[in-house]
Amino acid sequence: MADNKIESVLKEHRVFEPPRQFVEDAAIKPADVEALYSAAEADHEGFWADQARKHLDWHQDFSTTLDDTNAPFFKWFTDGKINVSYNCLDRHLSAKADKTAIIFEADDGNVEHISYADLHARVCRFANALKAQGLAKGDRAVIYLPNVPEATVAMLACARIGAIHSVVFGGFSAPSLRDRIDDAEAKMLITADGNYRGGKLIPLKEVADKALSEGCESIESVVVLKRSGADVEMRDGRDIWWHDVVDGQPADCEPEWVDAEHPLFILYTSGSTGKPKGIQHASAGYLLGAVTTCRWVFDLGDDDVFWCTADVGWITGHTYITYGPTACGATQVMFEGVPTYPEPDRFWKMVDTHQVTIFYTAPTAIRALMKHGDEYPQRHALDSLRVLGTVGEPINPEAWMWYRQVIGKERCPIVDTWWQTETGAHMITPIASYTPTTPGSVTHALPGIEADILDESGERVTDAGAGGVLVIKKPWPYMLRTIWGDPDRYKETYFGMYDAHTYVAGDSAQRDEKGYFRILGRIDDVVNVSGHRLGTMEVESALVAHEAVAEAAVVSRPHDVKGEAIVAFIILKDGEGDEQLASDLRNWVSEQLGAIAKPEEIRFADGLPKTRSGKIMRRLLRTVARGDEVTQDVSTLENPQILDQLQAKGT
Ligand code: ATP
Ligand code: MG
Repeated sequence: MADNKIESVLKEHRVFEPPRQFVEDAAIKPADVEALYSAAEADHEGFWADQARKHLDWHQDFSTTLDDTNAPFFKWFTDGKINVSYNCLDRHLSAKADKTAIIFEADDGNVEHISYADLHARVCRFANALKAQGLAKGDRAVIYLPNVPEATVAMLACARIGAIHSVVFGGFSAPSLRDRIDDAEAKMLITADGNYRGGKLIPLKEVADKALSEGCESIESVVVLKRSGADVEMRDGRDIWWHDVVDGQPADCEPEWVDAEHPLFILYTSGSTGKPKGIQHASAGYLLGAVTTCRWVFDLGDDDVFWCTADVGWITGHTYITYGPTACGATQVMFEGVPTYPEPDRFWKMVDTHQVTIFYTAPTAIRALMKHGDEYPQRHALDSLRVLGTVGEPINPEAWMWYRQVIGKERCPIVDTWWQTETGAHMITPIASYTPTTPGSVTHALPGIEADILDESGERVTDAGAGGVLVIKKPWPYMLRTIWGDPDRYKETYFGMYDAHTYVAGDSAQRDEKGYFRILGRIDDVVNVSGHRLGTMEVESALVAHEAVAEAAVVSRPHDVKGEAIVAFIILKDGEGDEQLASDLRNWVSEQLGAIAKPEEIRFADGLPKTRSGKIMRRLLRTVARGDEVTQDVSTLENPQILDQLQAKGT
């Protein structure tokens, strides 16, 4: 594999040290980080046991740290008893009852501040209501709500009584919602009449009714939050308003003390690569990851205003809205709307209004906002910011530099965080106060996380620039426990390639000369041109670095001579593409990366097929590039109409 590596002139050499002032002000100092690394290296289990006792409040201490007797079905902190909502709420009440937990900004700009005492009371009332509705420990509730505080309340209320939530993103269609309800055999659905996003009404209840009109036999009750005020049908004996169920419920609810391993939630993956998987997480281990990563990676402290722009329907919203910031007793911003409404400066305006210090978003949002031009961020001071984060996809160096210069004013460390629904929290990422960063690089694994790159035969890939399979070689507390209802698929998908202790992430990666990790894309996305393995990411980054290009997606199709040939789908910043530009772009890539990477074909489009979390679905583009009929599951596609356009263009 090492022989096949391609020398990329794009290989980044720029290194940005954490700013001196930042390090001085940081809660976690470089020496603390060094100490964490050496403790983890010396004793993996002992390290995690210490962290679990330091960061979590236990109702009953655990006696075994890691039980790996039935690998890959690992158990952490067995016979410890805990309650996640207690850790997110009650333990802050003595010192922080009046501290703002959530600054909520609605789509229409309305702002609400919710204190820890208030959040606690709301969660308790709703938890009592859930019990009154017959939801018990171990039962599943599907939450299909907008990104509003009630979503967090519902999740924490489930955790309080030991019920298992499965949040379904509010943008999903009726069939997607139905599939998830059926797969989880949920007893309750928690939804809303509807809400406004970007000024448009999202008719959640209507979609939910459609989902429930077929299958969904496990559903006994539907709790409906009044949010849009839209007229909705309430079915007798099944549907009940949120305000009615909480009416008269006491603002106190004794937490259900559950085993450390008790399932906290099921969350279905984005579906970028196929049928979504019901990822099951455990209570204590998951929460530990949420806390340690907030503390270490973001340097989250008591004076911060944290803002993760994700929706609670994604793992990012679970870990960095509902669980992480609250378990740390922090203040956070929660936002119902979209970045471009009413204008493309919404995010930047909100950063100033709420004096956000830590800002966490996705490359798809950064690229979209970059395309709108610098005048929007330049309208705002943005001087409260101190850390910038990104997650979800590889970030092109071009977008990374824009984020650093235009948003962070070269003052804020950027943490490019690699992780997955399955990993629960950050895995490979810079630590804001510690790690020198490089554009497009996720740098190094966190303390207690053993990341590596292997070749097909299981040998370590150590050469700089050589690609391979990204793996985690030791279990970690916040890993998934299984795929809901399908332990065989869990074993096969994540531990089928090597052995029962080697977690296969499904991504490919390479290391640079500093030993830093760079994510190349999904294993299946690696393109093989005349025996050279190329990450789609590399070619895409080269394309996005061209001044005319806003976004690019690269796939391959079979080629008689080369094995595979590269097809690039291009979204321009302005105007339409022509032959000349296509030829310029092909030559540009060739200059940047070498002739081997020169796209065989360039196709201009108005958009790319994306999942509802904003990720490019390359598997669909592959089908289009090959001229085949699309037969894959497109239920998680955000913009299905774009497929028709792309196919029509293909000749
Ligand atoms: P599915 O597993 O159903 O195909 P998905 O993998 O898109 O969906 P998620 O768990 O939301 O679902 O996404 C995790 C994936 O996102 C990672 O495996 C990786 O490919 C990508 N990813 C996340 N963060 C980063 C990052 N910082 N850099 C590069 N890639 C990232
Ligand atoms: Mg995945």
